[in-house]
Amino acid sequence: MDVDVIVVGAGPTGLMLACELALAGVRTRILERRTEPRRDSRALTLHPRSLELMDQRGLLDRFLALGRTVPGWHFAQLPTRLDFSALDSRHGYTLFLAQARTEALLAERARELGAQIRYGHEVVAVSQDGDGVEARVRGPRGDETFRARFAVGCDGGRSRIREAAGIGFPGTDETLTGVLGDVAVIDDDPAVLDAARARGVLVAPLEDGLTRLVYVDPERMRVPAREPVTLEEFRASLIRICGFDCGVGEPRWLSRFGNATRLAERYRSGRILLAGDAAHIHFPAAGQGLNTGLQDAMNLGWKLAAAVHGWSPPGLLDSYDEERNPVGRAVTGNTEVQTLLAELTLVPQYQRPGAALRELFDELLRVEEVNRELAAQVSALGTAYPPTNPGADPLVGRRMPDIGFTTTASEATRVYELLPQGRFVHLDLAGDPRLGAVVTGWGPRVTAVTVTERDDHTDLEGVREVLVRPDGHIAWATRTADLATRRDERHNALTAWAGTPS
Ligand SMILES: Cc1cc2nc3c(=O)[nH]c(=O)nc-3n(C[C@H](O)[C@H](O)[C@H](O)COP(=O)(O)OP(=O)(O)OC[C@H]3O[C@@H](n4cnc5c(N)ncnc54)[C@H](O)[C@@H]3O)c2cc1C
Repeated sequence: MDVDVIVVGAGPTGLMLACELALAGVRTRILERRTEPRRDSRALTLHPRSLELMDQRGLLDRFLALGRTVPGWHFAQLPTRLDFSALDSRHGYTLFLAQARTEALLAERARELGAQIRYGHEVVAVSQDGDGVEARVRGPRGDETFRARFAVGCDGGRSRIREAAGIGFPGTDETLTGVLGDVAVIDDDPAVLDAARARGVLVAPLEDGLTRLVYVDPERMRVPAREPVTLEEFRASLIRICGFDCGVGEPRWLSRFGNATRLAERYRSGRILLAGDAAHIHFPAAGQGLNTGLQDAMNLGWKLAAAVHGWSPPGLLDSYDEERNPVGRAVTGNTEVQTLLAELTLVPQYQRPGAALRELFDELLRVEEVNRELAAQVSALGTAYPPTNPGADPLVGRRMPDIGFTTTASEATRVYELLPQGRFVHLDLAGDPRLGAVVTGWGPRVTAVTVTERDDHTDLEGVREVLVRPDGHIAWATRTADLATRRDERHNALTAWAGTPS
């Protein structure tokens, strides 16, 4: 084998996955068709759950140093914003950061951890047998063949790896397109941009003095995404929508994008797996695609590493599809709702009921519980995986809250500070120092911590022990005081998730 895992595609998903695999000591090679890193930036947003993941891996400061935070984001471009700051997270905000920057930071991290990134290497075919996978590659040295134990297609919506694995991609074709422009705005009167916002144009300042304007022009919304956008068209559309062209000057990038919506039938076929846009595509409503890809990678990385290192318990790798496919379904679903809410007001016969529906939705967003629910969806803080055990504590599958606590060694710390190595964390919240030794059979796979004092958290009331997965979700929790029951439950949970003890 040349390496353990071949990751196809150095987009955000492939880079994040390479970081996770390399962190776990897996020999990883990314093969990327582009000859150099990306310069344009489709995505701009890193939402709260993605920021929590960066925090868990000790990377957050690198990201915060380059971006700008905003306290919430939108749903269907409705005037009432989603309030991320009301959610239970230390990172209840969105970070504005250009996709190219996110990719550069992840590439830097992947290399630090020892992953190889090979630009100019296009994978033209992938096949698999009982022992591994074989990728045929067209690169600077001509045609080459690489072997690995697994391959992951992070190669975007038109994924060749998905096709090679015979995984279907059902869904709907593009029926509507929008346009984005990263442009110099010569008329920098804030009132002009506010007026554009009020007419449904998404306005986002970029870090280099340019402004991103995004819109759907009713007269051009059936133009296929493959048709290039000219500056004349861009200006004419703005005048049609706003009554003025926002003083648009030279563009750096104009692009048309569509609402084709598809979800892979499954995320795994034997030794080939899919993540990110290769597994799900949708309209970029509320900026969720890149975020979902990062979260796929976080879910898959440690499971694939377990399979490579030979300690994977039965079903662990399959749980990637079981857990992430429903998330892909939910995200594609909510983007379809948002697209419909926007489209209705653009189609003449639905304009009035469409506007009434948007008003109704906007009113609903002013109801705290509704806002919180949708904010939890878009931020992905609400993502919970179904428990495998029917009698499980309600916390199982949910993300572990980042509570602060003191350990028996009198160290003040918090949960996410215990996750940078991507290991399981066993927290004895009841503070019995004897329990530290009971997880030693799992060696370096599990970090055991005894808590003496901790922050209050309603969800954790009465909880005595928690096993946190490497991706920050809860594998097991118990509230029982009976030591013998706890011992059995703990042993079963550790064996089910972290494999048999050595
Ligand atoms: C207009 C627009 C705005 C968006 N805004 C946001 C946003 O604000 N927030 C957000 O979360 N998401 C946003 N998205 C979505 C986001 O850009 C994508 O979800 C994200 O890029 C997906 O990352 P990925 O790594 O899965 O795939 P990609 O970014 O598509 O990367 C795939 C990589 O694989 C490479 N590749 C393809 N085929 C091969 C091959 N055969 N061999 C080798 N390499 C190959 C490609 O060159 C590419 O580098 C937006 C999308 C659009 C269109």
